[in-house]
Amino acid sequence: MSSKDVYKRSVYREPAPVLDQDNPFQAMVERFDVAAKILELDPGFYEYLVTPAKIHIVGIPVVMDTGKIKMFEGYRVIHSEILGPSKGGIRYAPDVNLEEVKALAAWMTWKCAVVNVPFGGAKGGIVCNPREMSPGELERLTRRYTANMMDVFGPDRDIPAPDMNTNEQIMAWILDTYSMHARRTETAVVTGKPILLGGSAGRREATGRGVMTVTLAAMERLGLLASESTVAVQGFGNVGSVAADLLAKQGCRILAVSDVSGGYYNANGLDIQAMIAYSASHGYSLEGYPDAEPISNEELLSLEVDVLAPCAKEDQITLKNADKINAKIISEGANGPTTPKADTVLAERGVLVIPDILANAGGVTVSYFEWVQDRQGYFWTEDRVNRRLDRMMHAAFDSVFETAQKHDATLRIGAYVRGINKVAGALKVRGIYA
Ligand code: NAD
Repeated sequence: MSSKDVYKRSVYREPAPVLDQDNPFQAMVERFDVAAKILELDPGFYEYLVTPAKIHIVGIPVVMDTGKIKMFEGYRVIHSEILGPSKGGIRYAPDVNLEEVKALAAWMTWKCAVVNVPFGGAKGGIVCNPREMSPGELERLTRRYTANMMDVFGPDRDIPAPDMNTNEQIMAWILDTYSMHARRTETAVVTGKPILLGGSAGRREATGRGVMTVTLAAMERLGLLASESTVAVQGFGNVGSVAADLLAKQGCRILAVSDVSGGYYNANGLDIQAMIAYSASHGYSLEGYPDAEPISNEELLSLEVDVLAPCAKEDQITLKNADKINAKIISEGANGPTTPKADTVLAERGVLVIPDILANAGGVTVSYFEWVQDRQGYFWTEDRVNRRLDRMMHAAFDSVFETAQKHDATLRIGAYVRGINKVAGALKVRGIYA
């Protein structure tokens, strides 16, 4: 097994970047610093909690369809195991890098603490372009990555899930490969897997459903009615399409959505169900969708709407466009869509930002339900899953809102304060093993 722990102090202590397009790990640290100050965090605890616990980097050889061997690089960062086994998705992308995976792993730690699920944080990634790979190549890549991570993954150790460009099928291959090595079927080693293999009802929709729940909760605080509200959604994948669909079902008018092919606008409201069907039958792309006007990504982000939900990727709201945002609420379905400098502009302009570590926590919450169901061997109805999810997301929203008010801070800082305080409290009672 070529997995190795390469964690060193120098790995995570880069100088602060001067650009707004922050190193995502640095962006995490900037928010962490503000919350740590509010909490008057002990400097030793600060060092401990900001530092990834383990970083694994693996070389992954794959025999391509041409018969030639190609090497890929894969990562798994375990940021924290203080509250329980580590949990986090795996993304496949050509530009995925270690700093991004470190940031995403840390966000998972705070996210799990914010929604009160007993997990630590982790994230994985493989540098590859899945759109240029055949299903066979993707399967061989996934299986070899899993084999390399046999000592890392496990239902009581580290539990992967889908993220950008990974899906139920990829989780099924991870489950199968892990189970072959373990000589038993271990359904609880991954979440976000097919229902046939121990997946949970409602998991596919969970992140988008959570976005809907916290968005409605924020609208209520601002006195906005769903039936009179307008929404723009960036990204039409797992998170964005479900969030748009569920908000439309609550009565919101979805004025615009976008995917990599561009933005789609209709002043009377888009037919989201029709767009989901169109995308599914056009290789998961909205390109050529007829009942909308084309708009650019920048136009979508600056539309005058009540709610803007960035559900695509990092660094979409930056210093360049933060002063052009015309939404009352930003609901961050994606991880890290807003840079710290943009956060400051938005706060000054009175935009209520529901931060990623709260807004998109529905996914990990139902992943937790899935893990519980697998371990019990007893499966819940979708209705039960949704009711429990709504309850946990509401409770998390309320406590973040109150924490933010108490410290006269943004919801993002309120969420960090809650998350860090919980993990620090657990660390205090566990103590430092020497
Ligand atoms: P996905 O791959 O299913 O969808 C991503 C969507 O974004 C696609 O429609 C893609 O075309 C679009 N997109 C990409 N670049 C874009 C751009 N520049 N402009 C507009 N659209 C663009 O991924 P997903 O699972 O929906 O994840 C989206 C985000 O949500 C990521 O940041 C991910 O980390 C985060 N997230 C996902 C989950 C989950 O359960 N899937 C949970 C928590 C957070």
